[in-house]
Amino acid sequence: MTIGHVDHGKSTLLGRLLMEKGVVPHEEIARYERQGALIGKASFKYAWVLDRSEESRSRGLTLDLAYADFATRNRKVHLIDAPGHRDFVRSMITGTTGADAALLVVDVAEGVMPQTREHAQLASAMGLRQVIVALNKIDRVGYDPKRITAAASAVREFLVPFRFDRVDVIPVSAWEGENLTSRSGSMAWYHGRTLEDAIDNLDTRPAAGPGPLRLPAMDVLSVDGVGTVVIGRVERGVLHEDMEVAIEPTGKIGTVKSIEIHGQGVDKAEAGETVGAALRGLARNEVSRGDVLGPIDDPAVEVDSFVVRVAITADIGNAGLGWTPTLHCHTASVPVRLTEILARVDPTSGEEASGTRPSLANGDVARVRFVPLKPLVVEGSDAGPALSRFALRLGRVTVGAGSCIEITPHVKETVAGATSHAGFSYKHAKVGAAARKKKEKEAAENRDIHGRPIDRKGKR
Ligand code: GDP
Repeated sequence: MTIGHVDHGKSTLLGRLLMEKGVVPHEEIARYERQGALIGKASFKYAWVLDRSEESRSRGLTLDLAYADFATRNRKVHLIDAPGHRDFVRSMITGTTGADAALLVVDVAEGVMPQTREHAQLASAMGLRQVIVALNKIDRVGYDPKRITAAASAVREFLVPFRFDRVDVIPVSAWEGENLTSRSGSMAWYHGRTLEDAIDNLDTRPAAGPGPLRLPAMDVLSVDGVGTVVIGRVERGVLHEDMEVAIEPTGKIGTVKSIEIHGQGVDKAEAGETVGAALRGLARNEVSRGDVLGPIDDPAVEVDSFVVRVAITADIGNAGLGWTPTLHCHTASVPVRLTEILARVDPTSGEEASGTRPSLANGDVARVRFVPLKPLVVEGSDAGPALSRFALRLGRVTVGAGSCIEITPHVKETVAGATSHAGFSYKHAKVGAAARKKKEKEAAENRDIHGRPIDRKGKR
């Protein structure tokens, strides 16, 4: 997952790296250079590699992120780039959910800037544990070891409070292609890793554990001749053809008619794969972004409230109980109300402090409870990060991030009048809804045209 302050060279670095790895042909870069020269923007020849995918996104499926795959000596790398100009933070939330590491691009001359801080904070709050810092534009400082070493120490120091498990700082020039996949004589003093080596040496996350299917809908399309198609990433479990899926929080049910990955039909999709799934039995408006598909016998769970650990990263004044930011978690965005501040957490030690204050302010880390103001599916982080990491926003400003610790499931009515957890009794819930409808219908039939109850007993 790539992050960093605007103009520090993220797009240039990715474009150049992909060219050096043979993912993007040299001719394409030369073409961008010619086109750029015509409009006085030759310096964007690498950055346009990603614009190309931006373009394809706007034409095709509206995914939030640009992806690219390449291989290092030891592993396959799946690069996720969140477009810089369009709602970056929100894209980052969807993107980091599956990432093993952050690639943080920092301009060696400018050093840490506001977005460097914001992105690092978010990456940390959302549970990313490894960071590679690409200390970029070292050509601009003449490959001067003194300046580069000083800047590297400053970035390391800046990252200490975030307590990442692992931080590599790699000096590079994205523009000159220096120290991305190989080194030339310009920095003979440097004996450390190239960017590719650093990526090669990351710890990989254990494969997504087994467990019931969880597929948050990113987008829903209505395709001629195919019907309702849900686009999203399988975060856990397996999606297969002919499977019956329950859609929460609506409780609707559909059957998987067909599955596509990158335009190819497949009969199943596993965790980590982004798919288009055509569903039978569901209209386009019966499933929407933020809904989560799961197996009908173990569907995703709608919550009444949930407890989180959250870090506040922007000035929100003093936000007391009743504060209502918007929660962005997996593909959902829902307003939530702060209803309890349970404990404060020391941001550097991670320990819970005794005593609470009645409000939250910039820089606070706390354990709190939220109540969603619209139906919402989230999971505790023990089920993995994908449906538990979140960011909080007020308007277009990100004001905090964190992870859900514990949920209180929404309780749906059942026929017998007994209650049961929504997640484990969709059938009851369905029957419950049907029973409710029947009752409403009967009640309507038992009223006269003025809405007054008809006393049938009395008439008998
Ligand atoms: P982004 O906003 O982080 O994606 O930054 P861009 O990749 O668009 O780069 C911003 C500007 O910095 C562009 O004019 C690039 O040509 C320039 N740039 C990027 N990397 C380097 C580098 O390594 N050296 C020099 N000299 N310029 C660079």
